[in-house]
Amino acid sequence: MRVTAWMLAGLLAPAAAQTLPPPPPEPAMGALLRQIKPEAMKTQIAALAAFGTRHTASETTSETRGIGAARRWIEAQWRACAKDTPLQVGTRSHIEPVGRRIAAPTEIVNVVATLPGKDPKRLIVVSGHYDSRNADVMDASGDAPGANDDASGTVAVMQLACAMARSKKPFDATILFAAVAGEEQGLLGAAQLAKELDVDGQLVEAMITNDIIGSSRGAKGEYAPLRVRLFADGLDPLLRLALRGATPPHPRLAAQQQLAAAGGADDLPAAQLGRHLASAAERYLPGFQVDLIARRDRTLRGGDHLPFLERGLAAVRFTEPFENYANQHQNVRLVDGKPAGDLLEFVDFEYLARVTKANLAGLATLAWAPAPPAGVQIDASELSNDTRLRWQAVNGAAGYRVVWRRSEAARWEFAKDFGAEARDALIAGVSRDDWVFGVQALGADGHASLAVYAPPVSGR
Ligand SMILES: [Zn+2]
Repeated sequence: MRVTAWMLAGLLAPAAAQTLPPPPPEPAMGALLRQIKPEAMKTQIAALAAFGTRHTASETTSETRGIGAARRWIEAQWRACAKDTPLQVGTRSHIEPVGRRIAAPTEIVNVVATLPGKDPKRLIVVSGHYDSRNADVMDASGDAPGANDDASGTVAVMQLACAMARSKKPFDATILFAAVAGEEQGLLGAAQLAKELDVDGQLVEAMITNDIIGSSRGAKGEYAPLRVRLFADGLDPLLRLALRGATPPHPRLAAQQQLAAAGGADDLPAAQLGRHLASAAERYLPGFQVDLIARRDRTLRGGDHLPFLERGLAAVRFTEPFENYANQHQNVRLVDGKPAGDLLEFVDFEYLARVTKANLAGLATLAWAPAPPAGVQIDASELSNDTRLRWQAVNGAAGYRVVWRRSEAARWEFAKDFGAEARDALIAGVSRDDWVFGVQALGADGHASLAVYAPPVSGR
């Protein structure tokens, strides 16, 4: 057998470190997860579907039909949870002018619930869109129950807010739960939300959208009750900007272009968020699998994470394993004598509860962890087969973790922990030429922040 450099590196790595530990045991997690109940989610999706249509331009004065009734109902449901919890509920609205999918100026209302953390400047956002559509995206009056697209994501976010607001263990980061409108008309509510939240003095550290998460079955009989897809890639907006050429990119994206050029194309913030969510879900939901997809979304399609992603923020999308296009964006009707359309009966509530729990595990562990470190670098000022890293201190961090993986591996593989005083580390025998490195901040209870890619720099 020929001994390759790769095999040698594989032999050397474990000697220098340990394999990446899973997220720590968390006594508070069980009680959190147990609050997510399929029956309650079914009741709420049935209520949303019963508004007939939730088209963004549908009527707003009726109490029983249209998007106005739907958003008032969502707000009322959250207000009920806010009675005995710190949840803060409200609406944010703006008037969207006439556009490609907006026939007349239309009020777009996002319903939001905020769970204040110890640090009001660190924001974690999770969304679903409560607007719906049928085959004609401009049909504001025909039935569009939208049970899966996206009452499933909306109800997930509604349940997450109520469950996390009742957590016995407080969160460090502030979590903003959003039921947004205007998705089907061009991501209008999410774009407005991104603009409002991405302001000086606070940072959206992570954003997750849940869109079409209610079915474990495909049209051809495929069945995957223990899997979900997670679209997590930050490189795509950079490539699109480069192709478009004209507009100057957001300053954060310009910085990420540098990072990508320095070997970090697979390590932009969205990818780190994807890795975090996958490992948390798989740790706290044994048997459940997150299929990490290094793409911004499904082919030629989009979702509410994109306005955040295009600002260079860590934003990702959960979607069920097989979309059933016979029911999605369809009119409610009979096909060969069988009902078709986005109906309640096609939602798998046990599955939806599982995906909601996957969100919960990822959100809670991230909100319990410190902020990710800044100034992460590999010191490449000298030629060496060891790797020297440095980073800046993080408020409240109890330690730091250097993580690394093979250049073609999707997830972090090895780790070495350092104390709260450490600002640099030497990983002996693991070459920066062969491995990808990142650094995380650790909380006192072992929860790790998002990893930050370490680009090589030639001097201080
Ligand atoms: Zn959708």
